[in-house]
Amino acid sequence: MDIRNGLVEAIGNTPLIKLQRASQATGCTILGKAEFLNPGQSVKDRAALFIIQDAVARGALRPGGVIVEGTAGNTGIGLALVGNALGFRSVIVIPETQSQEKKDMLRLAGATLVEVPAVAYANPNNYVKVSGRLAEALAETEPNGAVWANQFDNVANRLAHIETTGPEIWAQTNGKVDGFVCAVGTGGTLAGTGIALKARNPAIRIGLADPMGAALYSYYTTGELKSEGSSITEGIGQGRITANLEGAPIDCAYQIGDAEAVEIVFDLLEHEGLCLGGSSGINVAGAIRLAKELGPGHTIVTILCDFGTRYQSKLFNPVFLREKGLPVPGWLERSVDAPN
Ligand code: PMP
Repeated sequence: MDIRNGLVEAIGNTPLIKLQRASQATGCTILGKAEFLNPGQSVKDRAALFIIQDAVARGALRPGGVIVEGTAGNTGIGLALVGNALGFRSVIVIPETQSQEKKDMLRLAGATLVEVPAVAYANPNNYVKVSGRLAEALAETEPNGAVWANQFDNVANRLAHIETTGPEIWAQTNGKVDGFVCAVGTGGTLAGTGIALKARNPAIRIGLADPMGAALYSYYTTGELKSEGSSITEGIGQGRITANLEGAPIDCAYQIGDAEAVEIVFDLLEHEGLCLGGSSGINVAGAIRLAKELGPGHTIVTILCDFGTRYQSKLFNPVFLREKGLPVPGWLERSVDAPN
C-alpha cells in the first residue's frame, strides 16, 4: 500500500522533471523540482508545515489556536491548508497588488484575509510588519495562542528545505548534481537547499536568480544592497538579508528581466505542457545561465515554484502583458479570444 495519512504527508517528495528545451539548448540536463504538485500548489507548503510544527513543538500554538502571517499568497495558502488539516485557524495579511486568484484561494481555504496597500519594508504599514503587530494583539485575546509565522526571519522555513528539498534532490539525482539555482522571496528555498547540497558535496554550485527590482543580485556581486527596475513576478524579489538568507552558501548570481522569464514560462506551457507562475521562469532562466557557464554535460536543478492558473488574470492576460510592454504569444491571444 502507498497511502499518505492526510495532507501533511502529501507535502514534498515532488518529482524532478527534465526540461527538454532548456536541456537541448545548453547541452546540460536541466531539472525542475515540481513544487507546483504540492497540495497547496506551491513550494511554500513545505515552509508552512515546518513553521506550524515548530510553533506546536514550542508550545506557542495549541489546538484551535491562530497562525498569523504576512504573505504574497503562497505561504498563506500553505498555512491555511495545513492549519485546516491540523486544527488551527489562519489570519493572512496580503498586499492588495497580489493576484486575485491567490486571494480567492485564501478565502476558500477559510483564512481571514487582511488586504493592505503595498508599501516598502521600511514603512511601518508594510504587510509583514502589520502581520507581526496583529499576531501580538491576537496573542493577548486568543485562549489557544496566536503565533506569527514570520517566514522571512523564522529559520524553521529554511529548515524545511535543509531536511526535505535538498535531501530529495540529492537522492533523486543519485548525487549527480552540479548546480542548483533559484530566486529568493524569504530565501528559505535557496539557503536551505543550498546548505543541504553543499553538506553532501561542497563543489555543487549554488546560484541566485534575481528578478529586477530586487537588491540581492547587487549584494552578492558587489556587497551592496541596491535595486533597479521592477518585475511582474510575485513572491520573489528581496531587498534585505533575511535571517533565512544569513550565511547562505551562494556562489553566483544572475539578474533576470521579465521578458526573458515570461518567454520561458510561455515556452514551457506551449511545448512541454508545464503550467507555471512567473518565478519559475526566473528560476529556469537562471538555471540556463549557470548551464552555459559550466558548459555541456552538467546537471542543474531548479525549482518550479507554483501552478500557473494562480496568475491567469496577470501573467496569462494579453491586456496586462501589453500594459507592461511584454510580448504576447499568438496562442495566448487566440486562447483568450476563442469562444467558449
Ligand atoms: N516563487 C513563488 C511563487 C513564491 O510564492 C515564493 C515564496 N514567496 C518563492 C518563489 C520564493 O521562495 P522562498 O520564500 O523560499 O525564497
